[in-house]
Amino acid sequence: MTSQRRLEEADKRYIWHPFTQMRDYQEMEPMIINRGEGSYLVDIHGRRYLDGVSSLWVIVHGHRREEIDRAIIEQVGKISHSTLLGLSNPPAIELAEQLAEITPAGLERVFYSDNGSTGCEVALKMAFQYWQLRGEHKRTTFVSFSNAYHGDTLGAVSVGGIDLFHETYRPLLFPVLQAEAPYCYRCPLGLTWPQCGMGCLETLEQILKDHHQEVAALIIEPLVQGAAGMITQPPGFLQRVRALCTRYGVLMIADEVAVGFGRTGRMFACEHEGVRPDLMILAKGITGGYLPLAATLTTDEVYRAFLGDYHEFKTFFHGHTYTGNPVACAAALANLEVFEQDKTLERLAPKIALLTRRLEEFKDLSAVGDVRQRGFMTGIELVADKETKAPFPPQERMGVKVILEARKRGVIIRPLGDVIVIMPPLSITEGELEELVAVIYQSIKTVTEGRG
Ligand code: PLP
Repeated sequence: MTSQRRLEEADKRYIWHPFTQMRDYQEMEPMIINRGEGSYLVDIHGRRYLDGVSSLWVIVHGHRREEIDRAIIEQVGKISHSTLLGLSNPPAIELAEQLAEITPAGLERVFYSDNGSTGCEVALKMAFQYWQLRGEHKRTTFVSFSNAYHGDTLGAVSVGGIDLFHETYRPLLFPVLQAEAPYCYRCPLGLTWPQCGMGCLETLEQILKDHHQEVAALIIEPLVQGAAGMITQPPGFLQRVRALCTRYGVLMIADEVAVGFGRTGRMFACEHEGVRPDLMILAKGITGGYLPLAATLTTDEVYRAFLGDYHEFKTFFHGHTYTGNPVACAAALANLEVFEQDKTLERLAPKIALLTRRLEEFKDLSAVGDVRQRGFMTGIELVADKETKAPFPPQERMGVKVILEARKRGVIIRPLGDVIVIMPPLSITEGELEELVAVIYQSIKTVTEGRG
């Protein structure tokens, strides 16, 4: 048996893959990635594929970027891990300083964890305890949005709003107040933007008016609800949410796990609307996509509420084993350096414009109902009927068929249901981007036309 065959069999025999129907997986030829180079992934057979979703929205400057690889190796040569519980390490310190500098003014304290979900747990617990410490004991709930996704741990699931992922666990979750998020293509209120004046905000305002004294914080994915299908918010929505939080005295948590580190065209999505949240969560692209790391940032005001004498036990009793891991922090520092050195954000603007132009063509495809784009975050929603917006029956597995077709043509993407996601590394070249979009266009056309 070849070593490739052995790996394929062992993969099917031993691994339970996340977010994967394993019965289907057993039927498929597994794709085992062995190497990466720039925008490409290389499998164990040596086949090359464009990484069209940045290895699940994390890769920023491409795979095997020399500066990041080197920073990791140099740090490993010093120490790979020491705890942040009561001790510190240079990369964690330097990174905290830089994050405080590049995030919206006022976010000054950095609390590390190791993935987006834990970053959200930290923010939720921090916001909750802040009010408890201030003596506002009734503030025990949160406001979140329909279609929200903040991760898979139970606190993050509690503030989630995607029934498919979250409903099963409802008995385990704490109750939250759910406001209507904008989903303009399928407005739950039957309204049309911009004439609606963002009527969906009225549900939020009503909730805050009625319950603000019970609310610790509101949590939002700024500009784009990623996992729900790259659902983009109308311009000004975020700013108005910020204004409502301020008016009703509720902390605002910005979950920038997916949108942070350049994905929307600016370093952080909040910058587009000049919004400063009270807490901000960063993960995914923070290390350029090389190692797991998350950071929850907050203001001096929140931080100060936790200060007190030892015996008062105002301490934030939270921390993960790998909190502030020095190798991950060294990778994150190198990631930021490459942003500067390559002028990544400046060079991204024409690529975003190119993507916008190419996406226009998708609108003519018979199965494309909606095309949503914010920077380098794109969702193409497939529908069975453009007129009625009726979705395909789930048995048809349209999204899956399209990505398998794209795979045959040398592109790796992953759908969200029937929404085809395009989210390449920021470093992708214009030529590669053209190729990526052309393959996805052809794949949608082949699969959806073949159906008729
Ligand atoms: N928050 C948002 C907005 C996300 O998109 C995700 C993951 O996709 C998470 C949190 C969870 O991050 P992780 O998968 O690293 O736990």
